Amino acid sequence: MIELSPLLLAIAFIVVGGIAWGLGHGRGIARTVRLPRDYYVGLDHLINDRFDRAAEVFARMAEVDGDAVEIQFALGSVFRRRGEVDRAIAIHTRLRSDATAAVAQRGAFALALDYSSAGLMDRAERLFEELAATREYRHAALDHLVRIHEQAGDWANALRVFHELPSAVQTERRRVAAHYLCELAEHAVLQGEAERAQTLLKQARAHDPDLPRAQILSARMTAAAGDKSGALALYLQALEAAPELALEIIPRVLTLVGTAGETQLLGDLSTRLRATGKVSARQLAWLLATAVPAKDVPDSAGEVSSLRSLLMRMGDVGGRYQCDDCGLPSVGWYWRCPKCRAWDSLHPVVFKWAERTDEAARAL
Ligand SMILES: [Zn+2]
Repeated sequence: MIELSPLLLAIAFIVVGGIAWGLGHGRGIARTVRLPRDYYVGLDHLINDRFDRAAEVFARMAEVDGDAVEIQFALGSVFRRRGEVDRAIAIHTRLRSDATAAVAQRGAFALALDYSSAGLMDRAERLFEELAATREYRHAALDHLVRIHEQAGDWANALRVFHELPSAVQTERRRVAAHYLCELAEHAVLQGEAERAQTLLKQARAHDPDLPRAQILSARMTAAAGDKSGALALYLQALEAAPELALEIIPRVLTLVGTAGETQLLGDLSTRLRATGKVSARQLAWLLATAVPAKDVPDSAGEVSSLRSLLMRMGDVGGRYQCDDCGLPSVGWYWRCPKCRAWDSLHPVVFKWAERTDEAARAL
C-alpha cells in the first residue's frame, strides 16, 4: 500500500468540488453540493492503487448519476498532470468502454493523452488514429498525430497527417510543412538522390515561397554541382529573406568567391542587408564583427572593429544563438529548438546585444 499524498488529495478535492459546484450552478439549481459517499470510497481505492475496485465504484456511480462521469474525467486529468499516469490510465480505460458513445470517445481521447504523457507513443498513435475517424475529435487527434511523428523524426508521416488537417490550419502552418519537406530533401541529399531532393525542395517552396532553408539547401546543391554564381545568388536571396541566418551564410559565401572577391562581396552583402529594412545599422555591425572577425568590411565609423575587440575581450559567451521561446542558448544553428521544439525560434544573440551595446560594454 502506498502512502497518501495530502497535496494530491487537496488538488483532487478542489477540482472535483469545483466541477460538482459548476454542474449544480450551471443548471441554475440552488443546492448544497454533497458528494456521494461512493465517491470517497472510489477515491480511496484509487489512491491506494486498487484500480479495479475504484473502477467498479465509479461505474456504479455513473449508472445512477451522470455527474460521476465528470468526476472521473476530472480525477483522471489531475492524476495525469501529477505524473501519476497509471491511475489516469486506469480511470480512462474504464471510461473508454462506457456504453455511451460520447463518453467512450472522450475516454479514448483522454487515454491517448495518458499514453503520450507516459511515452507509450505506439499506443497513443493507434488511439489518435482511431479518433481521427470521429467527427468530434478528428482535428485534435490529427494535431497530436502530427506532433508524435514530428517527435519521432518521421517527416513523411508528419506531412501525410498534416495534409489531412483543415485547410485553414494547413495555410496557417504552411512553413512547418515546408520544413518537413526540407528535412526529407536533406535526407535525399545524404542518400545521393539529387533529383528527388530537387522535387522535394520544389514542393517546399510551393508551401512557402520565402523559406530560406529551401534556398540554402538549393545553394548547397548548386555549389556541389560546380555552379558558384548560381549558388551565390541563392545564398544572398536566403540572407535577404532571413538576416538572422547571416552567421551561417556569410562564411559559406566567402568560400565561394575566394580571397580576391571578399571585400567586394561583403560590401554588396551589407548594402543588400540594410536595404531589406530587417536589420539596423548596429545589428549589421554586430553580425559582421561576429561572422568575419579578420576580414575587410565596410566600416566607415570604425564600429565593426571596436565590436571585434569587444568580442575578443568577452571570449566564449556561451553560444551564438538563443531560442526566443524557451531561452535555450546554442552554439550551433537549428531550424527547430532542441529543447522546446519550436520551429524558427533561434536568433543570433548579437541581435539582442546590438540593442544594448553600451550596457554590455559597461558590464565588461
Ligand atoms: Zn526553445
